[in-house]
Amino acid sequence: MPSFDILVKGGTLPDGTVKDIGITGATIAAIGDLTGGDAGTVIDAAGDLVSPPFVDPHFHMDATLSYGTPRINASGTLMEGIALWGELKEIATVDDMVQRALAYCDWAVSMGLLAVRSHVDTCDDSLKGVEAMLQVREIVKPYLDLQLVAFPQDGFYRDPTARANTLRALDMGVDVVGGIPHFERSMAEGAASVRELCEIAAERGLPVDLHCDESDDPLSRHIETLCYETQRLGLHGRVAGSHLTSMHSMDNYYVSKLLPLMAEAQISAIPNPLINITLQGRHDTFPKRRGLTRVKEMQAHGITVGWGQDCVRDPWYSLGTADMLDVAFMGLHVAQMTSPEEMQRCFTMVTDENARIMQLGDYGLAAGKAASLVVLDAGSAIEALRLRPDRLCVISKGKVVSRQARNDARISLPGRPDSVRRRHRLTYG
Ligand SMILES: [Zn+2]
Repeated sequence: MPSFDILVKGGTLPDGTVKDIGITGATIAAIGDLTGGDAGTVIDAAGDLVSPPFVDPHFHMDATLSYGTPRINASGTLMEGIALWGELKEIATVDDMVQRALAYCDWAVSMGLLAVRSHVDTCDDSLKGVEAMLQVREIVKPYLDLQLVAFPQDGFYRDPTARANTLRALDMGVDVVGGIPHFERSMAEGAASVRELCEIAAERGLPVDLHCDESDDPLSRHIETLCYETQRLGLHGRVAGSHLTSMHSMDNYYVSKLLPLMAEAQISAIPNPLINITLQGRHDTFPKRRGLTRVKEMQAHGITVGWGQDCVRDPWYSLGTADMLDVAFMGLHVAQMTSPEEMQRCFTMVTDENARIMQLGDYGLAAGKAASLVVLDAGSAIEALRLRPDRLCVISKGKVVSRQARNDARISLPGRPDSVRRRHRLTYG
């Protein structure tokens, strides 16, 4: 048998199969029954879940870990969050942003989150955030894939210099074209922004990922324009709509036309359940809308849907842990994805499906792919969702980048075992 640099033995993969994984250099060299193989480092994963790394397709790394600076969001709304971010970016320095982002990336690595698509605000003439995030992208490159989206937070047309600054950010090497059509001054201007942003992406050969219809207004229909422009410009498979919360409130007849248009244009959807359930419905009394987009209905039409995290400790959200299982757990509840198949799907949405949205070509547990994986203290993907357990070992590009000791509770009860792990295997999960 061959010798590997690292051998991960006997882990249960998300599909339920049990396999060994042999790693040589930065690549998975072999996967299957590798009995008799040896390695410089052997990791015993018997009984534990071995997953490809978690992927977050929607985040704001320029704003993360800033909660309370210069003040908290008193109303808890999206609009106050945007105003508060405006105050924060006036006083933030490039070094502040770099240090906060690097601290967040440490959290991410410890949770097995090894690829992140982050929007970066392009509405500041100094482009401090862009400069900071480009630095961070280089620093973390050996262990975390950071993709950046040029995001005109205050409106591509509504902010007087956003258009020019967004183009400058793309010239500086930002990876993806972003936008916020529902925040422009009018529906017409929002639609025009979608058109121009898609044209920019077509000219430059870049993907598109818009904050699209993050609104409770059922008439916010920029997703329709995004489908049209994607089709017109041949951007199939390169375009994502983030949030799409207005679809929650739309007329059902209209949605029955919209879903096939999204499928035809191969647009993927990125709901952000922690944030959508928190920010949407704030103008409602009761009943109060959930605000999450129509996840299962999109999936039934063959549309790729991934769960995004969006925020951790920033002007919009006071909590967050860099754990994509928290994100999937909330999505599972709000979208009522409770059957075994749907729960399993929630796990693949924060792994394989998010990797597809980010077009990560070397992703997955297969020979020849990048040697990146996470060992979790759980027996299956569904159990991982239930427990959100410790990440016992994280490997990125062939290197062990995080270890966590198994942390069973010690209990002292008469006639009972002395430790508890909360594992529970039934027919499913
Ligand atoms: Zn966002």
